[in-house]
Amino acid sequence: MKITFLAHSGFLVEWEHFYALFDWWKGALPPLRQDKPLLVFVSHSHEDHFDKHIFTLLAEHPDTRYILSHDVRLATRRWEKLGMTAEIFAHVTSIRADSILPLDALGTPLTVRTIPSTDAGVAFLLSAEGKLVYHAGDNNWWHWEDEGRQYCTNMAANYRRSIARLADAVRDEHADCGCAPVIDAAMVPLDPRLEDGYDLGISYLLEQIPVGKLFPMHVWEKFDWIERYRRAHPADAERIVPLRADGETFEL
Ligand SMILES: [Zn+2]
Repeated sequence: MKITFLAHSGFLVEWEHFYALFDWWKGALPPLRQDKPLLVFVSHSHEDHFDKHIFTLLAEHPDTRYILSHDVRLATRRWEKLGMTAEIFAHVTSIRADSILPLDALGTPLTVRTIPSTDAGVAFLLSAEGKLVYHAGDNNWWHWEDEGRQYCTNMAANYRRSIARLADAVRDEHADCGCAPVIDAAMVPLDPRLEDGYDLGISYLLEQIPVGKLFPMHVWEKFDWIERYRRAHPADAERIVPLRADGETFEL
C-alpha cells in the first residue's frame, strides 16, 4: 500500500486494486493508472476538505466513484456552481454516519463504514485486501478552552463515543473479513490551534485501538508539531509518521 500526503488532510492511498482519495482540495495529485478504479471520499463540506475540483476527475479517470458525506449539499440548484452534471451525479453516493457501504473494485470487495464526527460529516473506515484504513476527516477531540467548560465536557464524551464506534467497526470487520483487528493506517487531526490540547485526539485513539501507522494531519503546515508529539509521547513515536512536507509518499 502506497500513501501520498497531498496537503492538509488530503491523502491518496494506492491499494493493489484501486485508489482511495481523501479530502483533496489542494496539493498535486500524482498521475493515476487508468486500469485502477478511483474512489473519491469527502468527509464533510468545509472548504479545507472539499473542493468542486474533484468532479473534474471523472473526465480524466472514467472509473471514478464519489463517496460524499451527506452534508455536502447536492441539490440541483447548486449543480451549476459545483460543476455537477447528470453524468457525474450518477457516480456519486451520499452517505450518513453509522452506515455500511459494500463496494467492488474490479472484483475486489471492499467495505466503507462511516463513523460519526465530533465536527461536521463523517470519518471513514475502509476495509479491503485484508487491510483497514481510517480517515478521520475532522473527527477529533476539539478541546477549545474558550468555548467553556460545558462545551469541553461534551466534546470529551462525544469523542470517546465516536472512538468506541470506531473500535466496534474494527471488531466487526475483523469478524466479517478475517483481517487483523488493527487499523493499518490512520489519518487523524493534530491541530496546533488547540495549543496544549493538540495531542488529545491522537493519544486517546492510540490508547483504545491498535494502529500500525498514524499520519497526523490538519497541522496547518506546522509540521514541527508532529515532532513535538513524538517527543512528548515516546511510546507512540514509532507509529507516528513524521510528515515534513506536502507530497511525501510512504510504502506500508
Ligand atoms: Zn478541517
